[in-house]
Amino acid sequence: MKYCIECGSEYQDSATECSDCPGSQLVDADGMRQRGLPLPHERDTREFIRVGTAEDPLTAEQFVRMLEAENIPVFSRPRRAGTVDVLTTGNPMPWWEILVPEEHTQRAAELLAREKARLEATSDEASRAAEEEELETEAASAPPGVS
Ligand SMILES: [Zn+2]
Repeated sequence: MKYCIECGSEYQDSATECSDCPGSQLVDADGMRQRGLPLPHERDTREFIRVGTAEDPLTAEQFVRMLEAENIPVFSRPRRAGTVDVLTTGNPMPWWEILVPEEHTQRAAELLAREKARLEATSDEASRAAEEEELETEAASAPPGVS
């Protein structure tokens, strides 16, 4: 099989050009991986799982950048507490979830716990001890897995 590096469409080995992307290059599966491009079936079946949350978009972005630096595919999206009245909580965007592919959940969770500890250590010295205790509890409850 060959794949278009522009749109990812799959072609027979005899194909020379993508019908949707004139002039684009067709490469084999190894060629796609070397370019860091997902194969069509990988893209469809890959399941993203929530490994952590952030309380504001800046923190979420920091987590995403940190995980990307570790070569973990990641994205974040805002979640609203649908049943909570915005007027009474004063908090219309309560949290962001951080999602990574299933195979990266354990490593991502460890990295997130470390990053959270680092952020909290620099932001709030007073409540530091209590929050570290919380983080340890979170880390201990992470699912076991093979490394
Ligand atoms: Zn194409």
